[in-house]
Amino acid sequence: MKAALLEDIEKLRITEIPTPKPQVGEILIKVEACAVCGTDIKIFHHGHRLISFPRVTGHELTGEITGIGEGVSKYKSGDRVAVAPAVPCGDCYYCHRGRQAMCENLQAIGYFWNGGFAEYMVVPKIAVDNGCVNLLPDNVSFEEGALAEPLACVINAQELSNVCMGDTVVVIGTGPMGCLHAELARARGAVKTVMIEVSEERLDAAKKTVNADLFINPSKEDSIKLVRKFTNGRGADKVIVACGVGKAQQDAIEMVANLGNVNFFGGLPKDNPYIQLDSNAVHYKECSITGTHGSSPCHNQIAIDLIASGKIKIKKYITKHYELNNLEEAIARAETGKEMKIIIKP
Ligand SMILES: [Zn+2]
Ligand SMILES: [Zn+2]
Repeated sequence: MKAALLEDIEKLRITEIPTPKPQVGEILIKVEACAVCGTDIKIFHHGHRLISFPRVTGHELTGEITGIGEGVSKYKSGDRVAVAPAVPCGDCYYCHRGRQAMCENLQAIGYFWNGGFAEYMVVPKIAVDNGCVNLLPDNVSFEEGALAEPLACVINAQELSNVCMGDTVVVIGTGPMGCLHAELARARGAVKTVMIEVSEERLDAAKKTVNADLFINPSKEDSIKLVRKFTNGRGADKVIVACGVGKAQQDAIEMVANLGNVNFFGGLPKDNPYIQLDSNAVHYKECSITGTHGSSPCHNQIAIDLIASGKIKIKKYITKHYELNNLEEAIARAETGKEMKIIIKP
């Protein structure tokens, strides 16, 4: 089969490797769509502590089951599925409490196992056993299903931040994740949404994609002042920071209302993860700060259900397609920030 093998940092080779055979408890899928994620860009340039080369990366994927290992009864050949790439162990402190995203032994497809930038992929037994393989309803295309994974991370964040009915929600960063945050907030009952972005180009793209009430470019306007004005001086109930910028996290604390919540959804650069936090603001506002970075298999199922129901319209986020042969070009394009989501069709 054809696969995009990352042999080392920035050494990607499209090559033939043996098509894997599903062993006991495993399933084999023919990959139909795999989206390029920001993490794929990072891995390409810097590697990852959980990845040893060579590795097939790609973790936002869907496909059709073409092979079933011994002992698998829940699935059959021909099933259309989305695979949740973060694989919990099912047997640790957090898994037992239903918080698989925090699994102490978390492993991931596209990191520890080969991922979706290939014609075929084996789903390991532990992933099959822990609910990582979700059936795609007929009205969800493979491409749309591939975006269930990023949406699942957004769902996890808003569950922890408790975005709810009547909220005013500010999202800082209008990449695809930020846009999905604004849309999900609406679906959860937020009455007002505000999107903030320093890149005029990205802000324009968000305006065309998301039905938010206010768009602010903080390099041109005072975003903190505008958010306060927009909320009658109160601030926003929830502020989600969907970018990896310390200043945005600091601003978020200033924008949040009393009793509100700030979610640090984007991580900061590893070599400088520190910000200046006005601790008194937290003290007097009685607000909370949460961080989120992943999702559980159940969030992937909810994401598929939301897409199938039409509550989240995901198709508009797919702005470009590439063939597997051109993965390196696709990664470079994704890096420009000019696309929402790029889909690879192996
Ligand atoms: Zn991803
Ligand atoms: Zn676990």
